[in-house]
Amino acid sequence: MSKQLPAKVDMEKIVSLCRRRGFIFPSSEIYGGLSSCWDYGPLGVELKRNIKQAWWQAVVHERDDVVGLDASILMHPQVWVASGHLEGFTDPLVECKSCHLRWRVDDLKDNKCPSCGGELTEPRLFNLMFKTFMGPIEDSASVVYLRPETAQGMFVNFENVVNTTRKRLPFGIAQIGKAFRNEITTGNFIFRSREFEQMEIEFFVKSGTDKEWFDYWVKERLNWYINLGIKKDNLRLRQHMKKELAHYALDCYDIEYLFPMGWAELEGIANRGDFDLVQHAKYSGKSLEYFDDETKEHYVPYVIEPSAGVDRSALAVLCDAYDEELDNGEIRVLLHLHPTLAPIKVAVLPLSRRGPLVQVAKQIYADLRQCWIVQYDDAQ
Ligand code: ATP
Repeated sequence: MSKQLPAKVDMEKIVSLCRRRGFIFPSSEIYGGLSSCWDYGPLGVELKRNIKQAWWQAVVHERDDVVGLDASILMHPQVWVASGHLEGFTDPLVECKSCHLRWRVDDLKDNKCPSCGGELTEPRLFNLMFKTFMGPIEDSASVVYLRPETAQGMFVNFENVVNTTRKRLPFGIAQIGKAFRNEITTGNFIFRSREFEQMEIEFFVKSGTDKEWFDYWVKERLNWYINLGIKKDNLRLRQHMKKELAHYALDCYDIEYLFPMGWAELEGIANRGDFDLVQHAKYSGKSLEYFDDETKEHYVPYVIEPSAGVDRSALAVLCDAYDEELDNGEIRVLLHLHPTLAPIKVAVLPLSRRGPLVQVAKQIYADLRQCWIVQYDDAQ
């Protein structure tokens, strides 16, 4: 009998397990890797797909008040003017006058370069959006940005969705997709990277009902993680203080997970008021008012936004499932993954290569593969 060891989860063990077992590799590894970008390997890609599928199932397929969307990553540059990202999506940075490394002001303990102790410049604002050019000419007229969040795709399609689905308030739009942020301080593995995936819902409600819906979504989203087997003790809610709130937010809760480096944000749920639709109406010149056919009123809806990270969810799932046990004097690493998330659902292990048995085993394998991800192994 193997004896359980207390599971000591540290980030190094998780990174090493992911590397060894083909969950996650450094990006472009044969070239020495690319800072803060990661590649999901054969098991990792299945885990990630299962997380996204579980989310989509819970928030789109099992509800009749949320529809899906897949908007493009490149959007009209005015979107980022309206959303406030062009002006406000910045971090103050200082540069070392000797070694020229740049640092986030919030990360500094004193006014010296943490690397060489050199003197630092005055802080300057640094925009976190990745900039590129549309078409062959690299001038200011062709500048476009890689989206730093998926949310804006849903705001600019609000009217399209209302007109084509005839959804009435309250209803939401959900989207899963890549987002890019030129983060200054990255690290903690896939917790903070420059290319990552988000799962976001923009839930449109009538003002006055927003607080109720906000509370509803905070509970709903917390339960989603618990239902996927994440230990309750490793999850907590943290309400933002007034001074922490983003410029658009009336209220915000973070769902935090106890990662190896401490409590940190897994998902944010914000009451965004009518900020986004008002801004897009102003900059696009299109009315984004909603006509309520019951009350015959025109108004701009409020928005409740649960915004989760796929990669942070994957990291939380891996940390939560990690365990070690003694096996003949050796430490064996286990992952107690929830069946919904496990990359492989069934293993067919015939334990022999004898003709008739193999035939039956192969047939079982072929049948099961129609419904599940199955692994066949006759080697051991
Ligand atoms: P943080 O304070 O940790 O930088 P944030 O408050 O800027 O996060 P949001 O803008 O609320 O994050 O984004 C919603 C979700 O997207 C986050 O809860 C997180 O799961 C994910 N996310 C944001 N930035 C990153 C990143 N650089 N790498 C991985 N996931 C991210």
